[in-house]
Amino acid sequence: SSNLRFQVVEEAFKKQAVDVKAPAGRPSEYFAKYVFTRQKMYKYLPADVYAKLIDVIDNGTRLDRSIADAVAAGMKRWAMEMGVTHYTHWFQPLTEGTAEKHDAFVEHDGKGGMVENFSGKLLVQQEPDASSFPNGGIRNTFEARGYSAWDPTSPVFIIDDTLCIPTIFISYTGEALDYKAPLLRALHAVDRAATDVCRYFYPEVSKVKCNLGWEQEYFLVDEGLYSARPDLMLTGRTLMGHESAKNQQMDDHYFGTIPDRVQAFMKDLEIRSLELAIPCKTRHNEVAPNQFELAPIYEECNLAVDHNMLLMSLMKRVARKHGFRVLLHEKPFDGINGSGKHNNWSLCADNGVLLHAPGKTPEENLRFVTFIVETLMAVHKHNGLLKASIMSATNAHRLGGHEAPPAIISSFLGKQLSELLDHIETSDKDELFNLKAKQGMELDIPQIPQLIIDNTDRNRTSPFAFTGNRFEFRAIGSEANCASAMIALNSAMAEALVSFKERVDMLMAKGESKISAILDVLREDIKACRPIRFDGNGYSEEWVAEARRRGLDTERSCPIVFERYLDPESIEMFERLGVMSRKELEARNEVKWETYVKKVQIEGRVISDMSMNHIIPVATHYQSTLIRNVQSMKAVFPPEKAESLSARNMKLIEQIAGSTEAIERLVEELTEARRVANRIESIHQRAIAYHDTVEPKMQAIRKEIDSLEMIVEDGLWTLPKYRELLFIR
Ligand code: ADP
Ligand code: MG
Repeated sequence: SSNLRFQVVEEAFKKQAVDVKAPAGRPSEYFAKYVFTRQKMYKYLPADVYAKLIDVIDNGTRLDRSIADAVAAGMKRWAMEMGVTHYTHWFQPLTEGTAEKHDAFVEHDGKGGMVENFSGKLLVQQEPDASSFPNGGIRNTFEARGYSAWDPTSPVFIIDDTLCIPTIFISYTGEALDYKAPLLRALHAVDRAATDVCRYFYPEVSKVKCNLGWEQEYFLVDEGLYSARPDLMLTGRTLMGHESAKNQQMDDHYFGTIPDRVQAFMKDLEIRSLELAIPCKTRHNEVAPNQFELAPIYEECNLAVDHNMLLMSLMKRVARKHGFRVLLHEKPFDGINGSGKHNNWSLCADNGVLLHAPGKTPEENLRFVTFIVETLMAVHKHNGLLKASIMSATNAHRLGGHEAPPAIISSFLGKQLSELLDHIETSDKDELFNLKAKQGMELDIPQIPQLIIDNTDRNRTSPFAFTGNRFEFRAIGSEANCASAMIALNSAMAEALVSFKERVDMLMAKGESKISAILDVLREDIKACRPIRFDGNGYSEEWVAEARRRGLDTERSCPIVFERYLDPESIEMFERLGVMSRKELEARNEVKWETYVKKVQIEGRVISDMSMNHIIPVATHYQSTLIRNVQSMKAVFPPEKAESLSARNMKLIEQIAGSTEAIERLVEELTEARRVANRIESIHQRAIAYHDTVEPKMQAIRKEIDSLEMIVEDGLWTLPKYRELLFIR
């Protein structure tokens, strides 16, 4: 069995880059080849149907069921021309992945043959049942079936021979069982709230949309090496492995030359992404060895989320073609950087104004400051919830490590913007604006007539940083569905904007001018949200103490962080905005705790199995060799000399005995801790027990294994080592 490791290493070294042929034509020509775009809608749908569908997509009008048949017919015609034989509703259950159940177009024709059929009814709604998806008790009764319903705002696309229809997934009683349904509701809430506030500045605005630009980090590992690591295969991360002597200290991987096999993978992935209308833009090596990143151009949030889900599944397939496995786990390797998925987020009005970007006129800058300050209000009030929205069993390993966002949500604004807010907070109103008779009322901020916010002023440690015309929420995990964070953030923003508008309107009702009322409320809010602003080093110990003093959430235990979803202010916010009900929130938390328990449980089993099947046998084998050597020494040397010559080996023999004993004992304790935890009825409390009693045992086992790895003869070690996993490509 020790052969497998050397065999896979040898094979991995020999692998060549796969030849990737680009499609004929420029990327702009094959872009969206497999997507039912507006152009294709125009071509395949009757004019009146096209107009109605566009109205649904652009203005959120209710879908008229009568056009569904015509839309389905047009889609079918296009799909069949593309060689498609099947269709599926494509949805995002709470498992983090995507789900699909394919149905063929064919139906009996009643004459002994078959016809291709795809009706409006099949397009609009399906009952995949899918009763095995996590639902947190919402579907306990057999009547409570799951339905998927078409989301016309995200275009259908083709994968292989299947037409994929993005859908929401809800229960018979209307509760969301997925990420898309609450996301659409949150986006609707922020649209309404932001539009109302926008009208103070631009009366013509009727819609505000949310932009999301995600950056996907990932690791690639040679497939052969991967197959020799049961922990990677079963849990997505290495549960053991001593640090490589060289890893990322030299910063020589970051932005370095992309290795050939990886370059081929990226090229292949980009082509397939572009054909599916994912606007890939950037690719580069990341900080850790064998870590890379892909970022598209930002898009409307719902579409961007779908595209990220699609990309993650594409990556997995394409990687295999190139003899790689893609690791989306947030922390596949200890001691080096983990992977995240920065979410660049901003709001944009339908008159083209990017609401988080500074403008040219003082009045535009008041709009800018308004949206910045209300974002900070949202993040301040719900910092615990935002952390819960990005928390998971896997991301917990990354947060609070010294290379990822700390487990405290705060916001970095940069010097210029910070000073501006301080200035507004402390100046009195007359100082802040004067009236210029000619142009009507105009706000003037004397010191800063025109803002050019420096995009390069960056703080890499901040989980929520302003970056010139957007905020970058950096705490999202690489494996996560971005929707989770986007639901929380957009809801919190909607709530802040509603409150802002109420207070401004109240002052105006009392006779204050609009600008004066806005400034009053802003100054109040700048004071209120001050605790969330932090431009210092987020990794420092002092910050944890300071954040606690400021009343920010500093909790690190994953199952406890999830509790923030059920805080009264979270439930009230989600319910008032119509995003999620208490029942949905409770059910979803059940799922979160359950998932947490299962993940840790699986890891516990895997580390136990590997300890007993790989580590202890190999260490004992090596120990026997050492013992034989000590005995032989006695045979050829006088006792005293033999003893001194064997001193080092004797020490190792004892060390190995100590470690293997410890591992065996800890594995038993781990099993016992699981047994005790499993008896706890409440899933919430069970998750806490897994965190508090099971996890620490795994860490203790790992420590022993990693020290054994350093002393056992390399030739005997069966598991590919970090240096092999990280440097072979
Ligand atoms: P960096 O790694 O320097 O943060 P990248 O270029 O990798 O930057 O990614 C930045 C992401 O932010 C891209 O997806 C980009 O399209 C997106 N982005 C740029 N401007 C905005 C904006 N106003 N709103 C949302 N996303 C944006
Ligand atoms: Mg970034």
